[in-house]
Amino acid sequence: MTRRTESLSDELYDYLLSVSLREQDALRRLRAETGALEEARMQIGPEQGQFMALLVELLGARRTLEVGTFTGYSALVVALALPAEGRVVACDVSEEWTRIARRYWDEAGVGHKIDLRLGPAVATLGGLVREGGRGTFDFAFIDADKPNYDAYYELALELLRPGGLMAIDNTLWSGKVIDTSVTDADTEAIRRLNMKLRADERVTLSLVPIGDGLTLARKR
Ligand code: CA
Repeated sequence: MTRRTESLSDELYDYLLSVSLREQDALRRLRAETGALEEARMQIGPEQGQFMALLVELLGARRTLEVGTFTGYSALVVALALPAEGRVVACDVSEEWTRIARRYWDEAGVGHKIDLRLGPAVATLGGLVREGGRGTFDFAFIDADKPNYDAYYELALELLRPGGLMAIDNTLWSGKVIDTSVTDADTEAIRRLNMKLRADERVTLSLVPIGDGLTLARKR
């Protein structure tokens, strides 16, 4: 019996993957190619991707949103979990990283399900709200620049339907959220959003200690 979440040793993590990870070939190769980049730590872990795919299935999601696409692992894992008519609107600012993403999306045969929007995501999401997108999304994954997290949260909350789910990445931020000597803009932004979510009656909340912390907020 344990009163708290088990922290995983490397061996226990490997065991978890060995008994549960089902990763398609394109996902595995994309993860390997991204793992060789200097920014490799921006990629989500495969067990988190699989968890998000399960959430998307549970929601019966058709329209999903992503803020922060990077090299495309999370968009690919979600697109693969969506039904044939499902769509991902994927926001990023990097042509360079999303070029890798597109290659794997096409290889996996789901490129047509992913609508990549290059540009600042606050503007992209604002555009979706103005174009009648309010309340039309089933799922949203937020994993981009931290100082804009609150703006992404508010816009994504508008875009979600009641009962829709938002997943916000990096909410434990390698433990820096509890290190009072750390006061950089990224860490402060995550702390502020975490505190706000604690009391936000518009959502049902759970902070899942998977990866770097994944906060789930279901729109009421
Ligand atoms: Ca992340």
